Parts: sequence; C-alpha cells; structure tokens
Amino acid sequence: MADSAATTPAPPAEQQPPAAAPAAAPAAEGAEGEGEGPSKKAQKKAEAKAKKEAEKARRAAEREAAAKAAGKTTGPTEDLAKDNYGVVKERKGQFELSADVEDVNLKNIGEEHVGKAVIVRAWVQNARIQGAKMAFVELREEGAWTIQGVFVASNEGTPVSKPMVKFAAGINPESFVVVEGTVQKPLEPVKSCKVSNYELHIRKIFVLAAAPQMLGMTLAAANRPITNFSDEEPAPEKAAEDGVDKLSIAAESSIPAATMLTHLDNIIMHKRAPVQQAIADIRMEVKDLFRSYLKSHGFKEFEPPCLIGAASEGGANVFRMPYFDKEAFLAQSPQFYKQFEIAGGRKRVFSIGPVFRAENSNTPRHMTEFTGLDLEMEIKKDYREVLLMLEGVLLHIFRGIKERCAAEIELVRSVYPAEEFLLPEPGKEVRLTFAEGQKLLREEGPEEFRNVTDDEDMSTPQEKALGAIVRKKFNTDFYVLDKFPEGARPFYAKLDDANPKVTNAFDFFLRGQEILSGGQRINDPEELEARIIQKGVDPKSAGIKDYVDVFRQAGVPAHGGGGIGLDRVVAWFLNLPSVHLAAYYPRTPKRLLP
Ligand code: ATP
Repeated sequence: MADSAATTPAPPAEQQPPAAAPAAAPAAEGAEGEGEGPSKKAQKKAEAKAKKEAEKARRAAEREAAAKAAGKTTGPTEDLAKDNYGVVKERKGQFELSADVEDVNLKNIGEEHVGKAVIVRAWVQNARIQGAKMAFVELREEGAWTIQGVFVASNEGTPVSKPMVKFAAGINPESFVVVEGTVQKPLEPVKSCKVSNYELHIRKIFVLAAAPQMLGMTLAAANRPITNFSDEEPAPEKAAEDGVDKLSIAAESSIPAATMLTHLDNIIMHKRAPVQQAIADIRMEVKDLFRSYLKSHGFKEFEPPCLIGAASEGGANVFRMPYFDKEAFLAQSPQFYKQFEIAGGRKRVFSIGPVFRAENSNTPRHMTEFTGLDLEMEIKKDYREVLLMLEGVLLHIFRGIKERCAAEIELVRSVYPAEEFLLPEPGKEVRLTFAEGQKLLREEGPEEFRNVTDDEDMSTPQEKALGAIVRKKFNTDFYVLDKFPEGARPFYAKLDDANPKVTNAFDFFLRGQEILSGGQRINDPEELEARIIQKGVDPKSAGIKDYVDVFRQAGVPAHGGGGIGLDRVVAWFLNLPSVHLAAYYPRTPKRLLP
C-alpha cells in the first residue's frame, strides 16, 4: 500500500514552488543594514554560491521533468497521485472525493452519464494488472451488477500514477471500495460484465473495508451448484478435500462444487453469490405477490404467536422449551389462530411467518423452521371457494414472478438448469380428486404403483410419479389433488357430506411435490369434538379443549383455508435440488448455525 501516512491532501503539484528554483536561493550570509555589511569578497562568494545552487536546482528540475515525461517515478515522495488512492483505515479515515460528483448505482448507469464523473461504492470482484501502466478491476453491486473499471497511469503521474495502478491491481477480491471516475464507452462491449456498454475510467479509489487475502470460499465457488446437502460433518481428511482449501483456487474451471455445509460455514460468500441473491429476490417477490393479491381480495393480515402454551396439532413434532416455571412450545402452524381470527369476527385473514417442526426429517424437502404463507376465509356456499382462492393466489404468484423476475430466473437457471415451469392455461386448471390421482398412478404410473388404493395417503415417490403423468397429460407443473381420504387428514378437516370416507381437503403440487395443504374446517363444536374422539385424541387435553371451546363462545361461520410453504414454492418453482437453498438461514435437525 502506498502513502499510508498521508492524512491531508497536498496541494496539486503544479501549485507547489519548484523544489529549488533560482528565486528560492538562500540569502547571502548576513543581511544588509546589519553592522558593517559583508565584504566585497564575501559578497562575491555568496553570489557564486547562489548561482551554483540555482544551477543545481535547475538541473534537478529538468531531470524530474524528463523522468515524469518518461513515466518514471524516482521515489515515494514523487507519487503525484498519492491522494487519489489508499486503504481508508490506514489513512485514518481521511480521503477526499469530489463534492460535486453524483453517487450512482451500477444498474442505473446510462447514456446520460457518458463523459461524466460518477462515484460508485461496490465490491471488487477481481483485479488484474496489464503492464506497469494499466490495471482493470471488476466492481460488483448487489443483483450481480458488474462494471469494468480501468486505471491508466498518465505520463505526468496524476490523477493516476504507476504506484496507484499497482495498488488497484493488488486489492483483494471482495473488498469494499469507493471509486470516482468517468463513464466511458468501451471500444467493444465488456462481455464479462453485466454493465457491458460502459466502463469506468477511475481516478480515485479507496478501500473502505478490505477483504482478507485468502477467502474461505471464493465467489466463483459460491456460485457453483451445490449437490451435497448432507448435514453430517465429513471426516477431517474428507473436509479438507471438499472444503475450504480447494475453494481458494482462482481458475474457475478447476473449482469444485462446495457442499452445503461449506456454504453455511462461509455464509457471507454464500450470500454474495449472485445465484443466492437472485433466489432471495424471487422469494421476496413471492411474499409481496401473496400479500398484495390477498389484500386486494379483502383479506386482513395478522400475526399469530410463535410461543404457545400447548402443542397445537398433537405433540410429536413440537419443540418444547422451559418457560419460567412451565413449559412452552413453538407453533407448528398458525392453524388454530387463523381460525380464532375468523371466530373473532374477520371474514378473510392471512399471515406470513415462521413455522416450527421438530421432525427429524433429513430430506431436501424439510427444515425444522420454514416460512408459512397462510390464509383462512369464510365459506359462503362451498369449500371450493377456498380452493379457488388459493389456486388464484398461487397462479398470480407464478405469473407475477415469471414477469417480474425474468432476469433472476434466468440467472438461477444458469446455475441450476431447469425445464420451463408449465402453467395451466386459464380455464384449464387441473383439479383431480385423490381417487382420480390414484387411478392415474395405477393405470399410467410405474409398475410398483399398480395397486395403490384410494384410502391410503400418497408417498413422496407416488406424488412425484403423479406429477410426471400430469405434466405429460395436461401440460402443467401445477395442479390440485382434492378430497383426501379421511385417514390422511387431521381431526379438524370437514368430512364430505356425500361421502364421509373423504374430506373437503386438498393438497397443491408443484413439479410433483406438495406445496400446500388446505380445506374446510369443522366449525360446529359438537361435530368437532366427535371427530377429535374418533381420531383418538382426548378432547379435554391441553390446547384441544381451549380450541373446541372457541367454537362454543360465539357462532363461527363455515370456513376453510390453507398453508403454503414459502421455501418450497420458491425451491420447486426454480427446480432447486433442495428447499434449503431457498431459505436465508436453513434450520435442519443437525444445523442451527449461522
Ligand atoms: P410433508 O408431508 O411434506 O412433511 P406436511 O403435510 O407436514 O408436509 P403441512 O403440515 O400440511 O405439511 O404444511 C403445509 C405446507 O408447509 C406444506 O405443504 C409445505 O409446503 C410446507 N412444509 C411443511 N413441512 C415443512 C418442512 N418441514 N419444511 C419446509 N416446508 C414444510
């Protein structure tokens, strides 16, 4: 690093007096008017000395000018660009950018900026030197917006000097910098950068936060597809093979794919990977589309509690924790609370929030914490009103992200290739009964599913096989399976009046994987209590009694709803290999960090 000691900008070199110009020749010994004055001999001697000095200074100035013209610097004090670059920490925070220059984001750079100076704050994606007088840096902002920055040392050594070029080329990737430069059109589009039609000719660069020389995981490695999602910590020798050591290799083609564990251990580089940022942006839009659609259909948002006093839907997969002198639980779903809102005088409600499952399921579909998109609504005539509302909001989400996130989807596909997600044409939505689904499996599915029956729940392989049949037959990756068998649904699911072997309950599927469970709930307390007993649950048990009593407190209209797993919607829409990739901080049975 050059010039770490400079704390205040020096005046421009042109304004400084020449190092030893004739005018600056030292005065002769003694001064006029003092005592008798110098003798003639002494005067002559002083004049000769001054002449000699002046001549010496002239020659030095000539040498310096010649050196500058040749682009050479002869010592650290001669770096005329020293105030234009540096590590801010080492400069004790003192650096100057031009006050009248606009701060821009890379994504906004356009024709109007050509020839103008701008300030950019960004991460250095990589830096390289090309000869002693030229360096290139790739600057990146979120959303994988990158631009090429060019440093060219001038013959005069300012605003860019050779040491500055060397400094820029030596900045560690992933350092955060601020640069000032002029937007120019490159001779040819810069293919490696997202901002390809412009480049920045940089005249100032300051490292605001330096990255270490060796990253735990390079950006290139972080942006490679993950194939190993195992939660198990590998044996030490295997870890060295898979993990950090190999990931610092610079050449992209030789970078191995890192495991999910390595990604989580290097969470910051994981998050910086353009693919992860694109997934996060899509996730954000899904939430936004869910909320805006429901609000425009008269739904009110509410927040159910996460801490609850009794296991809401049976005790098996609930997290328990000490709660003062009692025990508390983490909510397995907002189910009861959505219903309490309807009982409490709302006709349509929704919530977006965390859901906790103490399931020791180490699969690409499960996490111990995920985000639920839930809704509940009054039913006027038929439970299909709920089904159609849920189908409507999901189609709105899928069409919305296809439109709003085309670039992000393309970016994700470049890392995780996927077939186009097929949506049903309006009016051709696929809604099968569970029995029809089983029939399709028996008749058109793989051999092992020839004998599936209508009263047993579907396994995951069966669901996937049905997804493939539906895609082929109906040209859609999104469909509904309705009228689940009674035995496959919880006690609060309303039975079909016409056929009590099945429920008014459904699941929705995306690429053959479940993303939603929903249906009509029992709103009559006597009927509810009878079903609870039939299901072998004690109606007087903690939580259950309070739940049933809610329906006795006041008249509760017929209602139904559904719960969507946000992480799964994002993951399966994009055809990611695991739901863990769609979560910001995946929680699994073996992993609670970071
Ligand atoms: P599965 O049978 O796949 O475990 P589930 O039937 O337990 O799911 P529900 O209780 O109906 O799921 O939850 C509603 C939705 O929440 C599911 O359709 C799914 O999208 C999501 N979901 C459920 N469990 C998980 C989990 N452990 N991790 C991520 N998402 C989940």
